[in-house]
Parts: sequence; structure tokens; C-alpha cells
Amino acid sequence: MSCHIDMENHVDPEPLPFSRHAKNLLRFLNLLPARMASHDNTRSTIVFFAVSGLDVLNSLHLIQPYLRQDLIDWIYGGLVVPRDNEKRCGGFMGCRAMVPKTEDAALLECMRKYQWGHLAMTYTSIAVLVTLGDDLSGLDRKSIVDGVAAVQKKEGSFGACIDGSEDDMRFVYCAATICYMLDYWGDVDKEAMFQFIMRSLRYDYGFSQELEGEAHGGTTFCALAALQLSGQLQRLDSTTVERIKRWLIFRQMDGFQGRPNKPVDTCYSFWIGASLCILDAFEVTDYAKNREYILSTQDKLIGGFSKWPQGNPDPFHTYLGLCGLSFTGEPGLGAVHPSLNMSMAAYAHLQHLHEQWRSENGKGEEDHGLSSAAQQQLKLKMKEGDPKATTAATTSNSPLIPAQ
Ligand SMILES: [Zn+2]
Repeated sequence: MSCHIDMENHVDPEPLPFSRHAKNLLRFLNLLPARMASHDNTRSTIVFFAVSGLDVLNSLHLIQPYLRQDLIDWIYGGLVVPRDNEKRCGGFMGCRAMVPKTEDAALLECMRKYQWGHLAMTYTSIAVLVTLGDDLSGLDRKSIVDGVAAVQKKEGSFGACIDGSEDDMRFVYCAATICYMLDYWGDVDKEAMFQFIMRSLRYDYGFSQELEGEAHGGTTFCALAALQLSGQLQRLDSTTVERIKRWLIFRQMDGFQGRPNKPVDTCYSFWIGASLCILDAFEVTDYAKNREYILSTQDKLIGGFSKWPQGNPDPFHTYLGLCGLSFTGEPGLGAVHPSLNMSMAAYAHLQHLHEQWRSENGKGEEDHGLSSAAQQQLKLKMKEGDPKATTAATTSNSPLIPAQ
């Protein structure tokens, strides 16, 4: 009896040890553990999870100025800018193995043949720069978007790089995010992209990775976010939207699963949670059960989250677990922009850059597709961290290039 009463009155003094999670993420910015050595070629993604995770933890100040500059320089070190006579391979590489530290001009010239942008690395690299407050002035936005358009397939999907790769919904999302962040869509065919996404909507109203595949939570996020970022979410009819919501809501057990009959996993609190935020339906989920599951996967000793309780924490599940908690309004965490997968603070910085670019191009604020009053209201809502506030902002058209 007394034990029962004790349990009921037990209050965890620190349900979410912020400082340990921050310390855990910070570690990945200084070294890559041996067990993760095979991820060296996608190192930008690890930097993205660590930096963005620190941002959601409101702990970016822990990145000392010298490290911040190091990170920005390292990211720019992976930028590929093709010359006029070279193929359209602009973008970022994931690691620096193809950039030898040498003054040997002949060797450097020779290595250019092996340098090309990769959509996932380009997306995460730009997102890191934005999150660290860089002004992106070191980017040639056109050559990057040319690189995105060069890997679009005839049926609307995207590959990862010009050298050839799988092509599927993951890279559709990366393409949309890159173009949205750079406020420029260039030769990207948004209509073909839309058609590919809609052909990937399955009989149960989740989206699949490739045509005729099985509906999947991560892919459904990629599809919905790409539709929102390209200003095409409103093309879904209300019946379809309701059925997609149903598929998403049914993925909640306590946490969320990615597919029917699969175990729950921390990262789906982001993939499914963000999808429901995009469709304005996150409110109908069980916040308490979701929170309880995410918290059960954290390592309270060394920090970080894993996919399952008692698992090894990693930066991917740590960042996405924090985002999942942020959607439920966890006190102390920053708000997250669901489709851009970055903090609202980083998003505000991005909007500021867009305004700057637009005014340099002779376009005023009115060109955002919103009235001044609506923009003011949106800014206020963003300050309050209202996820619904993103809907209007992310569907505005770029004045640089008219909507196709
Ligand atoms: Zn996972």
C-alpha cells in the first residue's frame, strides 16, 4: 500500500535532462565515435542533427564562436560550384574525402571530376548554415538549384546526385527544401513533382517511397512537406486530406510507428507528428502517451535518445525525439517548423534573408503573397510558436521565379 502511494506521488525531479542531451550532441561536433565511422561520408547530416538539436534545446550558445566559425568553414568547404563548361553538379558534398589538403593545382584539378553535390547533403548543409546564422552570401543559389533540376527524373522524382543514385520521395523532399530555403525554383518542374507525389499515394492513404511501394511514415512526411514547401498542399482535396490524416493518426500506439504492425520508434514522433502538424491535425493525438514513450528512450546518464528504450542513443533519434517533444509543447524546448525541419528561430532568420534577397531584386514585402497585416499576424504567431502559423508562410510563391 505504502509503495503504491509512493509511486503515485513520485515526481521525476528532472524528466528531461536538457544539459546532458546538449552535451551529448555537442560531442558529435568535435569527433565521430568509432562505431559511427561508416557515416563519415554523410557527415553533414550528423552536423545537422547535432546543431539543430542544440537549437531546439535553446543551447546554440554552447557552440563557442571559434567552433561556430569552424563549422561554417567546414560546410562551405564541401560546396561544389561547376564552371560554365562543366556538368550541372552544383551543391554540397557530405564529406571532404574528395577535397585533398594540398597546394598541388594539378591534383586539385584532377579531383574535380569526383566532386558533385548530393541533395541530402545540400539540404542539411544549407540548414546548418541557416541555423548557425550565416547569411548564405557564399552560395551561388542558381548553380545549386541547377544541380537540383539536373537530377529530376522525367516522372517527377529526384535522384541524389548527377553520378547516378536511387531516386525516390526522400530526394523529392530534399529538392523542395533546398529550393524553398534558397527562395528559387529555377528549372525544377513542380508540376511533375506533384504528379509523382500523387501517384505515390497508396490505397490506404499513406505515401510510398517509390511508385507501387508500401505506405511509410517517413515517406508520407517527405511527400506532405514537399507539397507544402512547393506551395501545392492546397491542391489536395478535402476527402484525400481526411483519409491521409486517418492513416497518420492510426500510427499512434503510445509513441508512433512508421507502418502498420511495426514497433513504435522515437523518430516517428517527428515524421508522423510533423505530418499531422502540416495537416493541422496534431491536436487529436495523445500527447501524454507520446511524451511518455519518447522520454522512455532517453539515456539520462550520457544524454541522447534512441529509437527504443534501453537502446544506444544517436544524434538522429536525439534530434527527432526533441522535435517530437517540441510539438507537444514541452516546456524549455524551442518551437519547430514542421515541413522545413528546423527551429522556428532558424526559420525567422531564413525569412529575413528572403526579404533581403527580394528587396535586392527590387521586390517589396507585399510580394510574399501576404498582406502587411497578415504578415504582422504571422510574425506574432511565430513568436508564440504556433505551428499553424507556418501554413501560410510556406505556401507563398517566390517572386524571383513565378509559380509554374
Ligand atoms: Zn527511427
